[in-house]
Amino acid sequence: MCARAVPERIKRRALHLSGAMFRIAVTDPIDREGIRALEEEAEAVDATTFDRERLLEEAPGFDAIIVRSGTAVDAEFLEAADRLKVVGRAGVGVDNIDLDAATERGIVVLNSPQSSTISAAEHTVGLMLSLARNIPQAYESVKSGRWEKSKYLGVELYDKTLGVFGLGRIGAEVARRAQAFDMNVVAYDPYISEDRANQMGTTLRGVDEIVEEADFMTFHVPLTDETRGMIGEEEIGRMKEGARLLNVARGGIIDEDALYWALEEGEIAGAALDVFEEEPPDDNPLLELDNLIATPHLGASTEEAQRSVAVSTARQVTRALKGEPIRSAVNVPVVSKEAMDRLGPYIMLAEKLGRFASQMLTGSIEEIQVRAAGEISREDIEPIRIAGVKGVLTPLLQEPPTFLNADIVAKNRGVRISETKGDTDNFTNLVTIEVTTSEGGKTVSGTVFGKKAFRLIEVDGYRIDAPMERTMLFTHHVDKPGVIGEVGTSMGDRGVNIAGMQVGRQEAGGKAVMLMETDGEVPDEAVEEIRAIDGVRDAHLIHL
Ligand code: NAD
Repeated sequence: MCARAVPERIKRRALHLSGAMFRIAVTDPIDREGIRALEEEAEAVDATTFDRERLLEEAPGFDAIIVRSGTAVDAEFLEAADRLKVVGRAGVGVDNIDLDAATERGIVVLNSPQSSTISAAEHTVGLMLSLARNIPQAYESVKSGRWEKSKYLGVELYDKTLGVFGLGRIGAEVARRAQAFDMNVVAYDPYISEDRANQMGTTLRGVDEIVEEADFMTFHVPLTDETRGMIGEEEIGRMKEGARLLNVARGGIIDEDALYWALEEGEIAGAALDVFEEEPPDDNPLLELDNLIATPHLGASTEEAQRSVAVSTARQVTRALKGEPIRSAVNVPVVSKEAMDRLGPYIMLAEKLGRFASQMLTGSIEEIQVRAAGEISREDIEPIRIAGVKGVLTPLLQEPPTFLNADIVAKNRGVRISETKGDTDNFTNLVTIEVTTSEGGKTVSGTVFGKKAFRLIEVDGYRIDAPMERTMLFTHHVDKPGVIGEVGTSMGDRGVNIAGMQVGRQEAGGKAVMLMETDGEVPDEAVEEIRAIDGVRDAHLIHL
């Protein structure tokens, strides 16, 4: 008898008919290779033309969906999709996905952050060479029939100093490539250790030093409250006349008004932007300048990156559906269903506590310790530790580290990690995160009432009892009359409603802390004003 292999197509059909095949909807366009990878293991549903109504209608029939940024995976959708197990984001940012709602339903959200690293790094190097040699301007000139050899005199990269702001995935690859051009690479990244920076052939420096010394400066940081406008008029004013700036990260990191002034006045030699505060730029005066070169957010636009993001997301989604280990789950750690029932709330708590601590830190992180006390200490607390580490790192990185790579990301940054178990007298369970930095550290503890009421119990040794809300203002101040009133007035003047407030102090007239839960956003100016109040030692806006 001759045994013949059953063709894949027939096998898939048979699986489908037996009802065992996964149905995966692709709701935003992805590279065809990704669809092919899906079809090897599942039925791929092309939902790219579905409107919201149709998507909600069909949602109950999907085991997984693959989205880019165009589909809102919100609580309403997740509620409708009652057999959904996995959401795959073909790309990086997960702003369009309600992570909390997905986590509560045990739905894995995964993404594909590495896929564009090389493309973005190569684009940066391309722009750096273009800037040095005026390639786009010279191209225009030759095409329009001119031959302006002396006008486009360039500079070499050789022996120049490159300042890299943000030594993460892309920054590190740019640094490596720049060394191939014999550039001296210095870097500013407060969240990375000296050793790690040295391993990459770079030396860590302060912003001020880089601004004054570098010939080229390139930005590879996330856009956060800290990095928005990190290069403004003052920094540019201290740069060399021949300095050249590159931004292939996010619009807004270099202040566009200040950059316009500097290029127009010849304060610096040139700039290259792949990203803008408003995209596409509308009437942006920067585009009229000859010494500004620009590309339309092309960092990740290569065939390889698009293919890689589609295939890697497709593969990860089918692996997750089959219960196999995956590389980049954004929300849920890999634990058994039973353990998740017991530990789930504390895993979420640890992540929130980590985020809380992280947003108050100064200095580079040296160690993260996670302590679990009470009944949970009888369990394997590894997922709680990982969640704590993930929480600490999340506000510092462009996209959240995953439960699978949080430890590795921390260790790659030279951060020591430990977990300990203990007892607690006053609570059934208590989770504590202690972060040590080069400038001190922070300790926060919390617990969970029921399954979802997350409470902050202690910050830096001060006893507090407050719900952990989305936006909070935290101050260290001196316990004296008037301080709290002035803080309240500042908030009121900016139209911020205070939903709740907790204070803690060591002794009357001594050091104290205050935590305010607010309805909605607190403007930066309010935080600045509060920092300037007599008696306030520091104020931090915290987003959970
Ligand atoms: P990453 O998370 O790997 O690295 C970011 C680095 O910035 C980290 O090392 C972090 O410690 C550091 N950092 C955070 N806050 C900082 C601060 N205040 N000062 C200095 N350093 C700080 O991110 P990545 O994948 O390398 O991406 C870098 C940037 O590139 C992001 O903004 C990302 O959105 C952007 N990006 C753009 C394109 C494009 O098409 N142009 C493509 C991919 C990524």
